[in-house]
Amino acid sequence: MTEQQRFQLRRDIPVENGYDLLVAGGGPAGTVAAIAASREGLRTLLVEATGALGGMGTGGMVSSWYCLGNNVHSMVGGIVVEICEALYERGAIEPGRGPEQWQRTKRGFGFDPEALKRLLDERCDDAGVEVRFATRVIDAEVSNGSGGESSRHTVRGAVLHSIEGYSFVAAKAFIDATGDAALAERCGVMCRAAGRDTERIMPPTLCARVTGIDFDRFDRRRDQQAGVDRAVSDGFFSQPDRHVPGIFRTGERDGILNAGHLFAMDALSTRSLSNGYAQGRRLADEYVRFFRRYLPGCEETHLSATAALMGVRESRRIVGEYELSWEDFVARRSFPDQIGIYCKQVDVHVYDTTPEEYARFEREFTEAGRPADGEYYGLPYGILVPRGFTNLWAAGRCVSTDVRVNGSLRDQPGCMLLGQAAGTAAAQHVAAGEPACALNTRTLVATLRARGANLPQKRLADTMTRCPPTPPGAERAR
Ligand SMILES: Cc1cc2nc3c(=O)[nH]c(=O)nc-3n(C[C@H](O)[C@H](O)[C@H](O)COP(=O)(O)OP(=O)(O)OC[C@H]3O[C@@H](n4cnc5c(N)ncnc54)[C@H](O)[C@@H]3O)c2cc1C
Repeated sequence: MTEQQRFQLRRDIPVENGYDLLVAGGGPAGTVAAIAASREGLRTLLVEATGALGGMGTGGMVSSWYCLGNNVHSMVGGIVVEICEALYERGAIEPGRGPEQWQRTKRGFGFDPEALKRLLDERCDDAGVEVRFATRVIDAEVSNGSGGESSRHTVRGAVLHSIEGYSFVAAKAFIDATGDAALAERCGVMCRAAGRDTERIMPPTLCARVTGIDFDRFDRRRDQQAGVDRAVSDGFFSQPDRHVPGIFRTGERDGILNAGHLFAMDALSTRSLSNGYAQGRRLADEYVRFFRRYLPGCEETHLSATAALMGVRESRRIVGEYELSWEDFVARRSFPDQIGIYCKQVDVHVYDTTPEEYARFEREFTEAGRPADGEYYGLPYGILVPRGFTNLWAAGRCVSTDVRVNGSLRDQPGCMLLGQAAGTAAAQHVAAGEPACALNTRTLVATLRARGANLPQKRLADTMTRCPPTPPGAERAR
């Protein structure tokens, strides 16, 4: 395609007007953002590449939520709690778990992903969100100011691709909830890419659904590490990975298998991603054979399906007006403009199979990176806002944090909190004309509290907390 043809394509594509907000990505963050914004009165278009909402929680088969509380009080409120309660009322969460899970404890629950898909369809419908499935955001048009106050950047519209071809959607506000900062990157936002701006890439896992587990006999804590160690010594696995695989119970004899690392896979490279899917399916089969052979209660375990969405832990994040750091996490820092609080431990999976890596993982997971009971850290508004943008926010896994904080915050409850905040901020922007990068955070916090968000800070501020920019690449030195 020549330069001229490309220009022609851009000029001729149909333009859609009339939306206040376009949300890219219908995962936990994007779906909650769209519901929140639509309830505030925005005409909202939610664009999802696959055929269902829920992202990793449904298409990725990661059907479990943890750390909705810190063993003393709840971390969550608003739409997150509403979704938990609805799943519970429908009998769609793990047997024996209930409101205690989102009112107080760290111990979470597995859920039925099909029930979540339907619930999110219904909630979007009730809120008036227009959902467009099988459609991908592939580009954007941005106007860039030139100097001073006007050096701010404004997104004019996004280019979508679907079976109908291309279309250009103009809107007043945009939220990137793609997990990969795909929209932000097309808007020219400064981003940190795993493997480019970090030493290495945290490995993904292709999750799978398994059946036939006798949960009365299967004791994860008692048997699993010993089983893995024996299998590694026997040379059973194709790679000597001593990480204990996860099984989340989702039904009487059903569970989700989170097992097998795809070391060095790069989710931002289609070739690497394609190889990863094939290798992930092979590993899922290998782990099911491991369960049958080595673990009591799993003799009749079968693989029902592997996930349609790759389980990406790290790909690309925006560099925001604030970048939440390990130092903030360790200090359990609170912010006057915080739009959420969270308490999940740091979960940065092993980069390779050396003993040093397992020791590093264990240290972070169980000691330095684990908030004690009752502790939490704050999520300042600025982690949602790409620097200098007037009408663009990130929500979910691609917000502005360092790698270790991302290893805590990327869990679905955290992503949903961020989604509600981004959707509410977009509504404030449209109603009051306040730029994203200069939004009144006192007003935002008041609205979020009124919608049930759990924001315990006593001191408030009109403007967001900012930090000096660190250029991409600087993270290598950290
Ligand atoms: C193996 C693994 C295990 C995990 N275990 C847990 C766990 O036990 N509990 C927990 O809470 N969390 C867990 N997580 C983390 C969590 O699932 C994800 O980090 C979280 O789902 C991220 O939410 P998100 O909304 O930011 O992105 P995603 O869930 O990734 O959703 C992004 C959505 O955007 C869509 N999309 C992407 N690009 C485009 C585009 N250009 N246009 C349109 N749509 C697009 C995708 O199809 C997807 O639906 C796990 C993650 C992994 C990988």
